[in-house]
Amino acid sequence: MTIMPNSVEARDMAYQMHPMVNLRKYEKSGGLVIESGDGIYVTDNTGKRYIEGLAGLWSVALGFGEKRLAEVAKAQMEKLPYYHSFSYKTHGPSIDLAEMLVKIAPVPMSKVHFTSSGSEANDLACKMVWYRSNALGKKDKKKIIGRIKGYHGVTIAAGSITGLPRNHESFDLPLDRMVHTSCPSYVHFGLEGESEADFTKRMLKDLEDLILKEGAETIAAFWGEPVMGAGGVLMPSDGYWAGVQAILKKYDILLVADEVICGFGRTGKMFACETLGIEPDVLVVSKQISSSYMPLSAIIMNDHFYQPIADESDRIGVFGHGFTASGHPVATAVGLENLKIIQERDLVGNAARLEEKFLGGLAELAKHPLAHSSRGIGLLGALEIKPWADANAGDAAAAIAAACQDEGLIIRNIGEAICFCPPLIITAEQIDDMFGAVARALDTVQAAHA
Ligand code: PLP
Repeated sequence: MTIMPNSVEARDMAYQMHPMVNLRKYEKSGGLVIESGDGIYVTDNTGKRYIEGLAGLWSVALGFGEKRLAEVAKAQMEKLPYYHSFSYKTHGPSIDLAEMLVKIAPVPMSKVHFTSSGSEANDLACKMVWYRSNALGKKDKKKIIGRIKGYHGVTIAAGSITGLPRNHESFDLPLDRMVHTSCPSYVHFGLEGESEADFTKRMLKDLEDLILKEGAETIAAFWGEPVMGAGGVLMPSDGYWAGVQAILKKYDILLVADEVICGFGRTGKMFACETLGIEPDVLVVSKQISSSYMPLSAIIMNDHFYQPIADESDRIGVFGHGFTASGHPVATAVGLENLKIIQERDLVGNAARLEEKFLGGLAELAKHPLAHSSRGIGLLGALEIKPWADANAGDAAAAIAAACQDEGLIIRNIGEAICFCPPLIITAEQIDDMFGAVARALDTVQAAHA
């Protein structure tokens, strides 16, 4: 692409430092400028339209043109654009949303605390875990178990629980208090000849061995995405979550379920905890809570978690944490309306009804010579690509993702996989369009490589 002086691309390259890019490469290449959105589509500044196959960052459940969210945001801005929830103040939108989240939670929950991003929510949940251990007089019970390939964000504590080297390297992470256990994706980590049941047993043994090695009395909490997203859509093996929960109970370790991607319908139920039989003490949600129209996240906690924290704040005199934007009225008003729309239009049911078609389409694509296998749940899936036999031939999944973009489809390549997480409003015909673009991209890359 030729970049004209003073163009929007040139000014972007001159002034903006982007997240999750090679900064030197960006200085030369710039990025794709997206200008508008509508339904499952976004349009760039040349007028080219794309299916957003990853719903932005796994988040835009209602698609890119939901007028009701814009109207609610406008009305809230006109009525009360901002107020905080510090020092004994509160406001309607945050109350309404907190009540709704407690009511729809997959297990009995008692309180909700709002933050603005998934990272912030995980970071604060981690601080709450430490605060709670101190409240209980368990000063040594502070370690957190995350998982290799788990993703919980990038702030200091959340980034430390994340189990991806690229989020640690040169940032001086992880913190010493964070330890990581194995990734339960059988496809990726199963051994030659090992059955899935034996793999699960090995994963559970790894977890228990880690707890015993570190000392159960030093471990406060286990963090996990029900289905790993940013690690590459990695499915837990059969029996994994039941086994993990039995171990955590045995050693008095809290379970924090990070449903930042899975929450609000992605797996065909309102929460993946329902889909997979997980009963967490703390549920972290974000992204689809507001379809990302406004930055918003929430920590939903049970009484067992909340009560010692409340006691400790009483002893100290204050729960000494809060953000200017905690429970922001516009964000929470948009979140509430977004969840009402998800319910009214039965978008959770849409994900459940389309699951077979979606996973079937991926399985068909997996028959392509460049593909290895497919996997997924609800409307979250991945197509595993075979690496090129010649190691110098570059990254096959990246080449396919780029060819998809040429075909008018934005998806994400992670490792050897290309990942799909379309808006929950997608229709059966649009799934065909999306996978049609992938099929053409696979053929193009194959022909170029022949
Ligand atoms: N947790 C999970 C499971 C995520 O997928 C993400 C983001 O992708 C985060 C946490 C971090 O959220 P944010 O990018 O809003 O900080």
